Amino acid sequence: MGNSTGTIQSIEIRYLEAKLDKPFGWSQSWTTSRSIIIMKLTTSENYIGWGETYGSYNTCLEMKHLAEFVIGEDSHNINKINNKIFEKTFQSHGFAGASSFMSALDIALYDIRGKFMNEPISTLLGGSLKIDIPVYATGLYYLEGFPIKPHIDEALGYIEDGFTGMKMKVGGLSISDDAKRVNQTREAIGPNIRLMIDANEAYDKRTALEMSELVHENNLTWFEEPCPSRDFHSNRYVTDNSKIPISGGESLHTSLEFSRVISENVFDIIQPDICSVGGVSEMRKVGNMANSFGVKINPHYWGTGISFAAVLHCMSVQPILNNSQINSPYENQSVLEFDQTPHPIREELTDRFILKDSSVEVPKNPGLGIEINEEVLDKYLKGEIIHVK
Ligand SMILES: [Mg+2]
Repeated sequence: MGNSTGTIQSIEIRYLEAKLDKPFGWSQSWTTSRSIIIMKLTTSENYIGWGETYGSYNTCLEMKHLAEFVIGEDSHNINKINNKIFEKTFQSHGFAGASSFMSALDIALYDIRGKFMNEPISTLLGGSLKIDIPVYATGLYYLEGFPIKPHIDEALGYIEDGFTGMKMKVGGLSISDDAKRVNQTREAIGPNIRLMIDANEAYDKRTALEMSELVHENNLTWFEEPCPSRDFHSNRYVTDNSKIPISGGESLHTSLEFSRVISENVFDIIQPDICSVGGVSEMRKVGNMANSFGVKINPHYWGTGISFAAVLHCMSVQPILNNSQINSPYENQSVLEFDQTPHPIREELTDRFILKDSSVEVPKNPGLGIEINEEVLDKYLKGEIIHVK
């Protein structure tokens, strides 16, 4: 054995279960068996470590993905491993589990119910208030070497396409370099196009505020995810102190997580994603709650035509916040993210949604109102089909 414990070489995960002769009860159910998940970890220096946790065999399947993250890591540096797991799972979209499953299931169930009733989902939700939903372009990611010319060309392309708003990435460079790019973007697109920035959780609260100070004169419509999404204290601090409205929440799950974010004014604008929040049902709860508390809701979108259709239906029944004679997108009407980045599956799985007047029409056909090209499912399949029956 060498000077260190070596790298993590293998992880065995076993689900063990033993039936009880005599069940015992508690508030939620009766315990009929005792079970445990046992982990055996082996390193390149032949150290063996044992661990255990709770859960089912399915938990083991979920743990398999996490085990893949840590294979090859230095087993001596526990901090680094924990930090990696934390980043991969708790922050951003990793903290998934049940609400990811619930989201997909709920969307599918609404699709079925709509088909059965021969009505679009918006009708099942009480009837649409709008036939089309204002959208903005999401793109303007960094390119290798951080060139500004293609970035500006992309921004101008969105205006040509008819978008009245767009969102660019920040947080990947120093705040001064990023601020320069924001200035250049605003200069190129002129004063009449909405511009938003998205840091994807890059900053601590002070740096976020510094960034906000550097760019606020560009008339930015919002500053998205300045701090890690579940760091409610830091996000609230930035919201309270920034001259730019602060948004976030794309990776939060269920109306329960949003209840605190909404009631405590963690963000000026919340951005639930129908694939994470819990599908149509939870999106509606969050939408109603946001209206009751006077918080704007501009949903996040990063999937295919399935979730885009689902969120269009939800937004068609979302009441306008603070009605007036003139109801304008961004001001009192919700706007929806319209991902413009490359996504071959999205491109092929359903028909494209047509942009008209910086809006997209809510599908009118029963259910989600879209057709799925099932050949695309085979084309992009990786690994085995998990078939539960
Ligand atoms: Mg975002």
